[in-house]
Amino acid sequence: MVRKILKEVYGIKDEIIDLGSETEQLVKDKFNEIDKIKEYNQLKVLSSMQKAHLAERHLHGTTGYGYNDAGRDIIEEIYSDVFKTEDAIVRSQIVSGTHAIAVCLFGILRPGDILLSAAGKPYDTMDSVIGLKESYGSLKEYGVSYQQVDLLTNDEPDYEKIYETVNEKTKLVLIQRSRGYSYRKALSIESIGKIIETVKSRNKNAICMVDNCYGEFVCTKEPTEVGADIMAGSLIKNPGGGLALNGGGYIAGKEELVKMCANRLTSPGLGKHVGATYGSLRNIIQGFFLAPHVVSECLKGAVFMSALFDRLGYETSPSWDHERSDIVQAIKFHDPDKLIAFCKAIQSAAPVDSFVSPEPSDMPGYSHKVIMAAGAFVQGASIELSADGPLKEPYTAYMQGGLMYENVKIAALIAASDID
Ligand SMILES: *Cc1c(COP(=O)(O)O)cnc(C)c1O
Repeated sequence: MVRKILKEVYGIKDEIIDLGSETEQLVKDKFNEIDKIKEYNQLKVLSSMQKAHLAERHLHGTTGYGYNDAGRDIIEEIYSDVFKTEDAIVRSQIVSGTHAIAVCLFGILRPGDILLSAAGKPYDTMDSVIGLKESYGSLKEYGVSYQQVDLLTNDEPDYEKIYETVNEKTKLVLIQRSRGYSYRKALSIESIGKIIETVKSRNKNAICMVDNCYGEFVCTKEPTEVGADIMAGSLIKNPGGGLALNGGGYIAGKEELVKMCANRLTSPGLGKHVGATYGSLRNIIQGFFLAPHVVSECLKGAVFMSALFDRLGYETSPSWDHERSDIVQAIKFHDPDKLIAFCKAIQSAAPVDSFVSPEPSDMPGYSHKVIMAAGAFVQGASIELSADGPLKEPYTAYMQGGLMYENVKIAALIAASDID
């Protein structure tokens, strides 16, 4: 029955359908592993909701200043229970992941402090925040200086160099867990723990902060369980579960640090006490409930995609059988036409805007054209199936998301059919 649709509706060749079935057999054990992690994380979230006495009345929210917003308070309590932290902020007033990370950096750092990135150059959007790219209001403008320790050629942290670089003036160490859009491995929870141990052995007061974007619920532990003082992420990625409707963001960590961030987000004196949630709470709370499941669907899709393209002879990262710490899947095409065909295939498999054909175009801040595929219910949501790639050697596509495994699978089959 499925074969009939694959052939008649999607025009997929018989040999690709067969290869797809074989690939599914091949990755069975990996899917079982993902299911175990999902079940564990699902119970973690469910039991936290029960422990906090989440009730129907919490789903409605407040207007105006948003004083005494019980739903907002309880979702922050639930996040901090799940992530094993003292406190958390979960807000739709945070507009994106970049904003959540910027709130942390500006909330904690003061003039004269040193910010150290311990896992190479951070995500592109951080350039303007740090001041690597001239920008009004950057950390650099406020007198915060920046240092960076690159990853080693095997993508592991350079612990020796980190140890040498940290000193008593190092105020905050930024650790980016996910690869983002660079061809490197995501840092494992163990590696993050080891970086933190290294930093603290040199300066026990240095604050370790993790950019946890794309990482939530991929493993059974989060960075805050291996010593991170604070972490931040985006709600249109993993923890929003596909339901959070605006950029949204969370910050979770030590109470005092979260307080500093809250004062930056709203105002000194107001902190966490304000911020109306009118209409956004139900999706944020239900999305967090669904997140472990949705992340497992993304991971299965990524594993299938990786295994299928590996069998077609392409280099993929991570390879299908490797340990994962984020939801991103990279495939190297070494051919602009194949990269473009891949992104067009992803777009055509989307539930929304499937009839649109993405074209490479110039992007502000990029020196080369970029092609992007996304047909999402929530604009820019990368927990939904999406892919993009810069039009330059080695013509790598970065794919992530997929609310449902079956959707990623059909996208992979269409792409394999079109490219081969
Ligand atoms: C997505 C992402 C960000 C920025 O999040 P936005 O919501 O796009 O602003 C930062 N760091 C990493 C690793 C990311 O994946």
